[in-house]
Amino acid sequence: MTPANPVTSATSRSKLALRGDLLDFTASPAWGQLDSPAVRFQPDHWLLIDEYGRIAGTQGQEPDASWTKQDHRGRLILPGFIDTHVHAPQLDVIASYGAELLDWLNTYTFPAEQRYADPALARRGAARFLDALLAHGTTSAVVFPTVHKVSAEALFEAARSRGMRLIAGKVLMDRHAPDGLRDDVAQAERDCVDLIQRFHGQERLAYAVTVRFAPTSTPAQLAMAGALCRADASLYVQTHVAENRSEVEWVARLFPAARSYLDVYAREGLLHPRAVLAHGIWLDEADRAVLAESGAQVAFCPSSNLFLGSGLFDWVGARAAGFAVSAASDVGGGTSLSMQRTLADGYKVQAMAGQRLTAWVALHAATRGAAEGLGLQHEIGHFGLGTLADVCVWDWARGPVAEARFEVARELHEKLFAWMTLSDERNLVTSLVAGRTRYQRPT
Ligand SMILES: [Zn+2]
Repeated sequence: MTPANPVTSATSRSKLALRGDLLDFTASPAWGQLDSPAVRFQPDHWLLIDEYGRIAGTQGQEPDASWTKQDHRGRLILPGFIDTHVHAPQLDVIASYGAELLDWLNTYTFPAEQRYADPALARRGAARFLDALLAHGTTSAVVFPTVHKVSAEALFEAARSRGMRLIAGKVLMDRHAPDGLRDDVAQAERDCVDLIQRFHGQERLAYAVTVRFAPTSTPAQLAMAGALCRADASLYVQTHVAENRSEVEWVARLFPAARSYLDVYAREGLLHPRAVLAHGIWLDEADRAVLAESGAQVAFCPSSNLFLGSGLFDWVGARAAGFAVSAASDVGGGTSLSMQRTLADGYKVQAMAGQRLTAWVALHAATRGAAEGLGLQHEIGHFGLGTLADVCVWDWARGPVAEARFEVARELHEKLFAWMTLSDERNLVTSLVAGRTRYQRPT
């Protein structure tokens, strides 16, 4: 998006100082702890961003005249959100009625994805998708395009032109999908190798070997995906696992030799510290131990899990087992790109399981926790010195209900929990990516 504010645009290469209430995390908050030492809250402070778009520090006193200043006094400044599981082409099918996972794919999703074979449509879709992320306060994402190579190219190019941290890869699916959405092992491998050479490790882009889910890949294709990972340990993996009970039963029929759904991936070498598995609802103790051992993380997608009736993710069980959990919208199974709405749904899912999700655990999972799970804590997710300034400025409250609630909130957790529950993209004032304004709310 072209910066809407010409002043900001003209000064985007100078040193920038943002004034507001700064909040980030220095560590992982303990489950259930409201007064957490992992929270770094600096009310009415300045966030300093150097001429290279990196965080240069925070301070209480006003910086000198060499800094361009933006005064956001009385607003909340957070690291940009990281959405660890979202489908770019599914903006077209968000909020589709009346289906569980397998019906939903066949009825809504696959027809929408077929259209992304068209390069012009893929480019328009990628631009619209990334601008929508930025307009929701999400500055980094792990993204599924479609099976079409051109859809991955379009997504990478669009992220590059916006300076965004993006992890993506051409979707692999060579069976159980309609015409126009299947590849074959040999062509898919050639496409992956070409995309890896052109985009992986370039600027802020990284390649993820992207298996849609076990049912839509033949054993030969899964073996090819595993071979790509073994050949280059810096590659990510993204896929789905154990989302829905019918899906789990189908996988058991398709892969009778595997101990479990997760084991289908484990056997092929697809579980490693750079793997992001969406959902992970229907796992057993042995699966949880395998996940912890592998270093892979699960992307918890509460909005999607509720909307598609998939099930309740056991976050406490994940913590007990010791694997990382991040937060994700899973649009279009999820119903909003807003991470606040996602996290507020996460609270409700945990409440249904008799657990209480603090704002700290939730917000950490969408910022520093997600960054650590991706091995990117040197770059994103917090205000540490030298990280890139992917930063969002938010109104604490908008509208009479939220404003009245904020007015009577006293404790810091109370304020953040109310913010997480009552706010959404309408609270977003501006999004910066590496210190440059990439979204500005119209005035
Ligand atoms: Zn998904």
